[in-house]
Amino acid sequence: MQTPAYAAHNATTPLVPFHMQRRDPGPHDVQIAIHYCGVCHTDVHISRNEWGGTTYPCVPGHEIMGKVVKVGARVKKFREGDPAGVGCMVDSCRACDSCKEDLEQFCEKGTVFSYNSPDSHLGGMTYGGYSGSIVVDEAFVLQVPKHLDLAAAAPLLCAGITTYSPLRQFPVVAGQKVGIVGLGGLGHMGVKLAKAFGARVVVFTTSPNKITDALRLGADEVVLSGNEREMNQHLNSCHLIIDTVSAHHDINAYLALLKRGGTLTQVGVPADPLSVQVGNLVFARRNFNGSLIGGIKETQEMLDFCGTHNITADIELIPIQKINEAYDRLMKNDVKYRFVIDMASLEKG
Ligand code: NAP
Ligand code: ZN
Ligand code: ZN
Repeated sequence: MQTPAYAAHNATTPLVPFHMQRRDPGPHDVQIAIHYCGVCHTDVHISRNEWGGTTYPCVPGHEIMGKVVKVGARVKKFREGDPAGVGCMVDSCRACDSCKEDLEQFCEKGTVFSYNSPDSHLGGMTYGGYSGSIVVDEAFVLQVPKHLDLAAAAPLLCAGITTYSPLRQFPVVAGQKVGIVGLGGLGHMGVKLAKAFGARVVVFTTSPNKITDALRLGADEVVLSGNEREMNQHLNSCHLIIDTVSAHHDINAYLALLKRGGTLTQVGVPADPLSVQVGNLVFARRNFNGSLIGGIKETQEMLDFCGTHNITADIELIPIQKINEAYDRLMKNDVKYRFVIDMASLEKG
């Protein structure tokens, strides 16, 4: 079936209206009418081919929230009318060691991401959530707590799980000190989630105009990362730091803030390499690792956790016609704190 969408056609021109195909739902598939889609900084990286490997046309979007409109004959978890979410993945091999351990994001045969991955059903590449509808195997569709606002819950599907997973894997326990670097889409979810884990939360930001918000979102302290005196007050004190920064920056300043044995988890993915001053790791047995979203099981756990704790994102709802402006504002760190596209605007072209 045809669905309207917005697509990038190359790395340098704006996204424009586009028409694309979705498959007819098979026995295990759920067809979802997309009501909302969050705008992740990854959408900018991939639309603009900043990481290399983008195939055009590219329909971004992996914080997909909507309602089920049709289910295949063998679907068990969903019924017509249910709220349903799709995050960064739509399939995986389901047989490799990673898949068997509920870590489909690391599928050894290649995770099928929601966009810019080979599409085994229709050929070509998968197309994401900047579109009117999507058809996904129910194994990769998330159940959304019914009392959460659908628009504000959309960012949980990437920004939420990407910051929840490092907290869960560390694992953070009440009373520990967690640093969040960068207060954007991921960072503001990291603050809310770390707080709900009972952590003492410190936000490191480059933006003085975000200090009040950081405290309102739940941070116990806010540090302007350019201020050496303020940074020095946190030396050797953090159990875990989650770095969400999308651009080149000095991670050594943050490694030095970890306690002995502490961990800096990099979730932001700057296009250029970051350099590690090895002494920062060696002399305090510190850890530096990365983390990619979370598996489907962990994503469902995160949504249920957010349901219990009433956690959603702080969003600015935009019509799809403003998507290019939103990308430009993301590049200027000007988002409070996640753009979400209202898909009702799509029909207008
Ligand atoms: P975002 O909303 O644009 O937030 C990024 C924040 O980083 C900015 O708000 C800013 O915070 C800070 N920042 C930006 N440029 C900076 C610079 N030059 N120096 C220091 N700080 C800077 O982006 P997002 O959607 O949260 O995504 C962040 C990154 O995570 C992107 O690279 C994205 O691709 C990646 N990502 C990774 C995963 C994963 O699974 N690992 C999942 C989703 C996204 P302040 O204004 O507070 O300084
Ligand atoms: Zn994302
Ligand atoms: Zn696999």
